Amino acid sequence: MTTLETLQHFRARESAIVDAIFEIINIESPSNDVGQSTAVVDQVVKYAAECGIESIVERIPADGVGEHLMIRVWPGDAKQILLLGHTDTVHPIGSNKKNPTRIEDDKLYGCGIFDMKANIILMIEAISYLSQLGVRPPCPVTILLSCDEETGSHTGRELVEREAANAEICLVFEPSAEGRVKTGRKGTGQYTLTSHGSPAHAGLEPEKGVNAVSEIARQVEQIHSIARPELGTTVNVCTISGGTTSNVIPEYAECEIDVRFTTMSEAVRVDDSLRSLKPFDERVRLDLQGGINRPPLERTPQVAALFEKARSIGATYGYAIDEVQVGGASDGNFVAALGVPVIDGLGLAGAGAHMLTEHILIGDIAYRATLLTHLIATAAR
Ligand SMILES: [Zn+2]
Repeated sequence: MTTLETLQHFRARESAIVDAIFEIINIESPSNDVGQSTAVVDQVVKYAAECGIESIVERIPADGVGEHLMIRVWPGDAKQILLLGHTDTVHPIGSNKKNPTRIEDDKLYGCGIFDMKANIILMIEAISYLSQLGVRPPCPVTILLSCDEETGSHTGRELVEREAANAEICLVFEPSAEGRVKTGRKGTGQYTLTSHGSPAHAGLEPEKGVNAVSEIARQVEQIHSIARPELGTTVNVCTISGGTTSNVIPEYAECEIDVRFTTMSEAVRVDDSLRSLKPFDERVRLDLQGGINRPPLERTPQVAALFEKARSIGATYGYAIDEVQVGGASDGNFVAALGVPVIDGLGLAGAGAHMLTEHILIGDIAYRATLLTHLIATAAR
């Protein structure tokens, strides 16, 4: 099996792959829509069977959220190669009227196509091709598709960590950055800071009130000063709200804070700083909710080696692959925190994640599928 033969195979398969992508995208699957989650999982399972993949399929329902899916191929005792992705999208039902699944020039548009449902088809195609050729990777391969990645993996995380604990390496099929593979991702924290004051008539006796909005306003600068951009640590107040009506001293206000960091020590520093915020007006009570959500995916030597593997596979058939470190987190962050080498952003080239211009590039399909197939076949340590 040479990369050029594989490229030929996927070029010949291109229109079948496009059709399969159409089918999966036309089943809209926003996070927390149980019926649609089940429908899209049905379609993935059906497609894997049609592709002749011999596997053990496990469907794990998450109450009120959807279904997680695991497809285990070439089972055995060795540690596995974990292929990670998700079936949920950020697009509410009906979004496909605004970004219908369609082809324009070399672009295949659709809701959730780039992030990351088209890549699910590539996972299946890669395994199907290896099976047809009788090429067996050196270890078992597990596809894990969670159904709540876009909302923070509150039910999927446990599964991801369980499977990662038994993984040799992990390949994450999240969107690429203009084709570039992601070898570093910041970790994330999400917080809500609430201020509790007391109400009063703004005209008759404002002095009797304690202004919760004013307190939050003063806290914003304080919160922003926790950032250390030179270390890649960002701290941003992204929403703010408070008050009831225009003539009442507000007793309540809150703001939501987005935190990003490249090391766990920075995560702990920011967390401590937020927890030790003191009110400027001591009559105000401050309350902090939230915490660290995803740990960072750090570019360790093992991650660099895995990227080098991908780059050198690409070089054999003229497919240039670059790497990048990004601010956005994925489930790959949870895997990396367990010390498993991860490369992320292995998905197709395209653009418009979370937007109504979301698309992939059809011309990349055969090239990307070839890379993924050979990575799966040879990437284990
Ligand atoms: Zn995604």
